[in-house]
Amino acid sequence: MRKIIIAGNWKMYKTIKEGQELVNALKRDLYNIENIDIVICPPYTLLSCLADMLIESNISLGAQDLFWEDEGAFTGEVSARMLKDAGCTFVIIGHSERRQYFGEINESVNKKLKAALACGLIPIVCVGESLKEREGKKTFKVLEDHLTNGLSGINQQEVLQIIIAYEPVWAIGTGNTASSAQAEEAHKYIRDLLAKLYDQETADSIRIQYGGSVKPGNISELIREADVDGALVGGASLDGASFTEIIRKAAEVLKS
Ligand code: PEP
Repeated sequence: MRKIIIAGNWKMYKTIKEGQELVNALKRDLYNIENIDIVICPPYTLLSCLADMLIESNISLGAQDLFWEDEGAFTGEVSARMLKDAGCTFVIIGHSERRQYFGEINESVNKKLKAALACGLIPIVCVGESLKEREGKKTFKVLEDHLTNGLSGINQQEVLQIIIAYEPVWAIGTGNTASSAQAEEAHKYIRDLLAKLYDQETADSIRIQYGGSVKPGNISELIREADVDGALVGGASLDGASFTEIIRKAAEVLKS
């Protein structure tokens, strides 16, 4: 049985004070949620102080990226070891905004993935097609490319530690959510591919989140799909009330 995981990607939003206020609200409103893994991924500058606030809570901390070297003359970069030290359990890798604006490619995703795993961080690896690729009927080809190259050299034990986030680029920050049928089709494709790359039992154990304009109004339908194991939430995770509602609605679906 795969446990649902809902993560908030705060992107480049929130000062320390704003982050503390949001965490206080989430701790107050979500303390009794047990059937969902809850993760927040704030900017680097907030990690350490929010980690202290999250001790003994049911909310875990993640970062939005990392660099693959442990340390060195790499100005502006942050390593897996530093993220662990700051209190992270999770790290997002290969987000489409990194691919689009910062030159992230499958090879760098793969190096980051290996560095995260070597340090005991749980990677949330993002894959997904652009609008042009979807319209050109290349969705599955893009997913295959992102996954086979991103996971290159990752063995079965390691892949079991990984979470995949299917994030169609055309749905991120646009308000255009994939329909639950579109999400399920892509998730099923990803799971079938993982079964080919590893085996069915392994594929059945890996959690696949959906990301792209998830909101309180669409989470229930998405979460009901057989292969949708949670959500990676951007914009709606910046507001305590909407992130809480997303999680509460998912929890209700699980109980029904
Ligand atoms: C994201 O940042 O991963 C994301 C899915 O953003 P949004 O929910 O705003 O579309």
